[in-house]
Amino acid sequence: MDVRNLIINSADREIHRGKVIVVKYGGNALADGGNGAASFAADIAALVQADIKPVIVHGGGPQIDAALKAEKIESEFVRGLRVTTAAAMAVIEKVLCGDVNGEIATALRLAGVKAEEISGKTENLIQVKKLQSRNADYGYVGEIQHVNADVLRRIIEVGQVPVIAPVGIGPGGASFNINADTAAGAIAGALNAHRFFLLTNVAGVLGADKKLISELSAAVARAMMADGTIAGGMIPKVETCLHALAAGAGAAVILDGRTAHNILLDLFTPNGSGTLVRG
Ligand code: ADP
Ligand code: MG
Repeated sequence: MDVRNLIINSADREIHRGKVIVVKYGGNALADGGNGAASFAADIAALVQADIKPVIVHGGGPQIDAALKAEKIESEFVRGLRVTTAAAMAVIEKVLCGDVNGEIATALRLAGVKAEEISGKTENLIQVKKLQSRNADYGYVGEIQHVNADVLRRIIEVGQVPVIAPVGIGPGGASFNINADTAAGAIAGALNAHRFFLLTNVAGVLGADKKLISELSAAVARAMMADGTIAGGMIPKVETCLHALAAGAGAAVILDGRTAHNILLDLFTPNGSGTLVRG
């Protein structure tokens, strides 16, 4: 596909010009091969050329799993969230803020994007407290208290693209793990992002018949989480879409990060791609 012509010929080009879009790039989308980081980076470069201002938040689930396994640290998940011990947190911070963050930023730079490597700890970007839950003691999992959007605005203003590792800063400066979907949604809300894209390794939200649902209301989403049709890692994704919309994001879309040009297709073609979540 000629991406440049897709954008140039789109009637929507002026609608998106100058707008901030937040993209959550899943650890799975990165690990699964498919089109991989290079294709993702090329699309982000095309957005920057169209005068759109992307903000990237990434995950790292598979990479964290591999690193924890190498350290012989077991992980337990409760409702799609990883229970995080102090030892696990040290490994997670290295993988997210070091390896994965650097890998994505490098791919972006190779595509000509001015990537700025940061985490939620940078200038207190994402302030958290320990997550309290009736379901489990999640350990070093943070609940977001505040997103310092000015930190991001300063980076965006000078034409750079923030690449954010989802590690928050807690009381006393401690590092806390934050689900990357949740972090991205909070950032999308705090920036009043024009669009919030959650890239993953499935086509979008699938129904009980395993077919893609192209539009999902909050009420239907809640019913599907209650009956288990939406499960595992898809739960924080859908919940975060609803939060981001309530907090001021323009629209939220869950879509396949392995399909080339999916973000561009969503922005610049009439039918979009993936699952559009309605507040
Ligand atoms: P990511 O790294 O992108 O956050 P996750 O593995 O955390 O990926 O979440 C996506 C996964 O959620 C899918 O690969 C799928 O296994 C699971 N999932 C559970 N319910 C659904 C559903 N209804 N539709 C799509 N995926 C679902
Ligand atoms: Mg996930």
